[in-house]
Amino acid sequence: MHFELITIFPDLFRGPLDYGIVRRARESHLVDINIHDLRAFTKDKHRTVDDRPFGGGEGMVLKPEPIFDCLEFLRVSPRQERITRRARESVVLLSPQGQLFNQRLAAEMSQLERIFLICGRYEGVDERVSEYLADREISVGDFVLSGGELPAAIIVDAVTRLLPGALGNEASSRTESFGTGEVNCRLPMDAAGKRVPDSTISAGGLLDYPHYTRPAEFRGMAVPEPLVSGDHEAIRRWRRRQALEKTLRNRPELLERADLSPEDRQVVEELRQSRR
Ligand code: SAH
Repeated sequence: MHFELITIFPDLFRGPLDYGIVRRARESHLVDINIHDLRAFTKDKHRTVDDRPFGGGEGMVLKPEPIFDCLEFLRVSPRQERITRRARESVVLLSPQGQLFNQRLAAEMSQLERIFLICGRYEGVDERVSEYLADREISVGDFVLSGGELPAAIIVDAVTRLLPGALGNEASSRTESFGTGEVNCRLPMDAAGKRVPDSTISAGGLLDYPHYTRPAEFRGMAVPEPLVSGDHEAIRRWRRRQALEKTLRNRPELLERADLSPEDRQVVEELRQSRR
């Protein structure tokens, strides 16, 4: 996987992409992250990347020329080939007006070979970039940041950890929050070959269950009993219940789309009753 990051602040990426899983993925050449300084693609003496908005108004806007020039220099595939998926490439403009980034989109992007991430600044980017160059606009949340660099780092991180071999333990990305049957794992099959919800773990689009480590008792706060019981079935049930409970409490809308087993549905019903 190749990431091409296009920014006016290349130094901002020093740090966020140099640790942990992303660092190891870079070192083992699972990912190749290239940071391109937009100013290198300007042609004037002052290396101008921005200009005043047509029609007046606040702030400055990133000019289209350096961005188009940069992508052409990087030999981006023609848009038609990207759209028809003949080229496994995508050009992304980071923008609060974009589609919301989530685990499903991260999984979809992890199938690509090359991802261009254009980081805006100031009031944003000349709209012709979105109209004629980018394949999609992506937002990392309903809030406005001062630049697209942190969102780009978020996408690089989330996509990288889904690449086979990036996590030490392959199972972990499917047992995490939002891990869904369709995208980053296959649901288990029953004897008749039908895919069934997996309630052994926090799979199926729920939030993760709570984790604890030693000490078993810390300042009078004890680890929940089932976890130290050694009873695997009790642990499974407790974790699944916690995942359902936390999802119901913090993100009830996720439950509507989750893969729930009959046992899960019963637990949700009990939880709903007890909250009334
Ligand atoms: N005027 C714009 C905000 C510009 S913020 C508006 O009101 O919609 C400057 C740049 O920061 C954007 O061009 C974008 O690249 C980045 N940015 C800000 N918030 C973002 C978000 N939630 N997701 C992705 N990129 C964001």
